[in-house]
Amino acid sequence: MINVLVWCEHEQDRLQDDVKAAYPEYMHNAIANFLKEDPNLNVRTATLQDDPETCGITDEVLADTDVILWWGHIKHNAVPDAVAEKVQKFVLNGGGFIPLHSAHFCKPFIRLMGTTCGLRVDGFGKHVINCVRPGHPITKGVPEEFSLPVEERFIEFYDVPQPDELIYVTGYETGRLFRSGCAYFRGRGKVFYFQPGHETNPTYRDKNVQTVIRNAVYWAAPNKD
Ligand code: ZN
Repeated sequence: MINVLVWCEHEQDRLQDDVKAAYPEYMHNAIANFLKEDPNLNVRTATLQDDPETCGITDEVLADTDVILWWGHIKHNAVPDAVAEKVQKFVLNGGGFIPLHSAHFCKPFIRLMGTTCGLRVDGFGKHVINCVRPGHPITKGVPEEFSLPVEERFIEFYDVPQPDELIYVTGYETGRLFRSGCAYFRGRGKVFYFQPGHETNPTYRDKNVQTVIRNAVYWAAPNKD
């Protein structure tokens, strides 16, 4: 079994009608629910809203966690530095970390990258997500090219270190590009940033997106002897 923790700030999905319309079950549950369909994944959730001090990320929880998925957007700064440091150490000690979409600006990811992790936002439109690393475990069962009808366009320059493994590059009708699937090794652990997943788009219901994220959980999980 792989123990998975889906973390969300749980702010816009409580307060904004357009987000509630896209994810009435809340965003962390939307992500957790498709992962729970896999009997090899033991999936739990935690949110900033439920416990602003610990964010639900205690030593006890981390001791029982292999991979953390992280969705945040407008409350990054509300995450205590002590929690970000716990997640950073969790990865350096072998844990997996998967920041999604606007979590490019979450504190643990910035700590793990050592750069600003800034990018440019360029409206919304069709995404064509291209695999540039066929054969990588994160791409298993996913077409080498797939599209999303509407998502939020993130464009370069994306201020992250050159990925250890660049898995996906997304192209737009504007002609611009974005490195949308970036894999890193940090300490004993692994990090995979994946760009799709704006809060008002039903992207986490897309089967290819779900498969990429599920594969990333398996890839990022520590090796257990
Ligand atoms: Zn967004």
